Amino acid sequence: MRCFVAVELPAEVRRELGDLTRGLCRYLPEARWVRPELMHLTLAFLGEVADDLPGRLRAPLAATGARHPAFNARLGGLGAFPGPGRARVVWVGMEAGADELGALQKDVVGALVPAGYVPERRPFSPHLTLGRLRTPADAGAAVRRHFSGRGFRVERFVLLRSVLRPDGPEYTELESFALKAPAA
Ligand code: ATP
Ligand code: MG
Repeated sequence: MRCFVAVELPAEVRRELGDLTRGLCRYLPEARWVRPELMHLTLAFLGEVADDLPGRLRAPLAATGARHPAFNARLGGLGAFPGPGRARVVWVGMEAGADELGALQKDVVGALVPAGYVPERRPFSPHLTLGRLRTPADAGAAVRRHFSGRGFRVERFVLLRSVLRPDGPEYTELESFALKAPAA
């Protein structure tokens, strides 16, 4: 099966991101926008894995979650990979919580490596993918738009299964891992 580890978003945040992408459509008519209900922050993409892998990851990922306190986050600031002039991916960055997400991501990768995960070479860049372009396009005007989302709390992360269907991916939660409750 095809799997990845991600942080999910509250419904209100996905709703405002849906409003955002509807506003970006006219700048990039060729882009395929991610459906708001599927939006998430990817921590690690595992790709095709054996059916028994999720079970083997349960304990190490639970231990990882237990080491990281829940934190506040906020999405904001638009950008494009590999760059605004020849965009293939249009994304929204993080105005708050990027350091905490980065620390969590590093530790998640550490938990996946013993199970055979090969870490990406490039450094983790916290972002949420809003849209994709098959043919690179100039996203300069799109990413100059101002966006700052509402704050939300990150209290867990999930292991998701992805099934790619002709009409888009379908994600199913396999496991959910709680972050540490902050000391009272
Ligand atoms: P589609 O491939 O149809 O555009 P998708 O990318 O949303 O759909 P998946 O390909 O299963 O669905 O990817 C799941 C998540 O993992 C997405 O957030 C995606 O951006 C991320 N991802 C996919 N491939 C990679 C990769 N090679 N490296 C890093 N992240 C990846
Ligand atoms: Mg993909």
